[in-house]
Amino acid sequence: MNSINQLLNNMLAGGGAFNRRAFLENTGKGILATSIIGELASCASSDAQGLAGPVKSLADTISVKPPTQHAPSEQHQETGVTVLPHNKRIGYAIVGLGELALGQILPAFSASKYAKPVALVSGDAEKAKKVAAQYGIPEKNIYNYQNFDDIRSNPEIDSVYIVLPNAMHEEFVVRAAKAGKHVLCEKPMTTSSKSAQIMIDACKKAGKKLMVAYRIQYEPHNRMAMQWARSKHFGNVKVISSNNVQNIGNPAQWRLHKALSGGGSLPDIGLYNINTNRFLLGEEPHTVMATTHTTPNDIRFKEVEEAVMFQMLFPSGAIANNTCSYGAHNSKHYRCYADNGGWFGLDPAFDYAGLQIEASQAQGKIETKMQPLIPEKKQFALEMDHFAQCIIENKVPYTPGEEGLQDQKIMEAIYESAANNGKPVKLEMITTLDTFRGTPPKED
Ligand code: NAD
Repeated sequence: MNSINQLLNNMLAGGGAFNRRAFLENTGKGILATSIIGELASCASSDAQGLAGPVKSLADTISVKPPTQHAPSEQHQETGVTVLPHNKRIGYAIVGLGELALGQILPAFSASKYAKPVALVSGDAEKAKKVAAQYGIPEKNIYNYQNFDDIRSNPEIDSVYIVLPNAMHEEFVVRAAKAGKHVLCEKPMTTSSKSAQIMIDACKKAGKKLMVAYRIQYEPHNRMAMQWARSKHFGNVKVISSNNVQNIGNPAQWRLHKALSGGGSLPDIGLYNINTNRFLLGEEPHTVMATTHTTPNDIRFKEVEEAVMFQMLFPSGAIANNTCSYGAHNSKHYRCYADNGGWFGLDPAFDYAGLQIEASQAQGKIETKMQPLIPEKKQFALEMDHFAQCIIENKVPYTPGEEGLQDQKIMEAIYESAANNGKPVKLEMITTLDTFRGTPPKED
């Protein structure tokens, strides 16, 4: 990705000669020039102490690279992969077998290089047996919510991945840490900043890692936008405009019950606006202003809000203008407007697949628009692999519990502003960049 980025930046800087073919030709060279093996070898001295089962080390990766059949112009295609053998991978227990776990997370293990599913936790034994059979998980590794703590004595489980309704995250993160397991927790981290702090403290006390599953921060298109924002390639980002809307269905679902969700569209999808604004800029907002809107008499929104419009002000002077809604057809996009003749953004930005980055730059009287093609990656495999690498190398994940806690504080400030007719609410002034992030993901 660094190579892709450099090439794109060079092309953009070089003027009107930019075209898709040139991008692909050069990108191919960039990818092949990246030595994944070299990167991994440098990690061989990692501290893998405290892991159950066979010692796991990134030095054990196996690389198989056939000779390429492609002309230089086609070499953006990946040839061969570098992966850990199965017995050296980090074993995950998936907790909660709902839409996300079954539709995205478990299938994503097929693209994983460092992780594998080894156990399931579900309240429905029959469903769990069927899913276990699909993924080659032995029935002895099926747990329920009552005997969950027995995972302590299962050395195959290194980490758990919490994919339960939001209000259940705290209980299962704390229990997992007490059982001696690392924890990857779905977003939103939980339903309050107080609860987020309890989760962080429990993992620290147990000496276990905690990561919040902010998949967008590991996704290549969004990472390119982040690098453009940070490098100021189009100038300083002054304004971000970001929307995340979808039309929610069944009024009986937990997302519409405040005790289980913590809120409506804000913690579920508005969180993408918040977290991505922060990720793109690397900054923390010092002020938020918000209003909520709910269609009168819509039976879906008796307990939680339908839509939130909110602004975030950042120390650099950048302004982010965001909308999230549970009441309109699916659309997820953002655009960053900079002060040196250009803008860039993604549409769609937050979907599981099919993301598209776009940019526009003025050069004299000509404005060049482009839609670079970046190889697509399975987002859930990227985030699970990053956490697996951090466990093996004993590093702080890029999106640790502190990153989730900060979003909880911002959401509380947004609700406070909305409850006071949009009055600005101040947050702690933080002037450092990437204040709550850990080790950046390895780029390949
Ligand atoms: P879901 O309703 O489809 O699945 C939830 C699972 O929890 C089900 O298996 C359900 O049986 C189980 N469960 C246990 N106790 C429950 C209870 N009291 N009430 C309801 N369900 C209970 O939800 P989901 O869409 O899979 O979401 C799970 C988590 O994943 C949420 O925190 C959500 O925000 C997050 N999520 C993240 C993404 C992403 O892109 N990262 C996408 C969707 C969901």
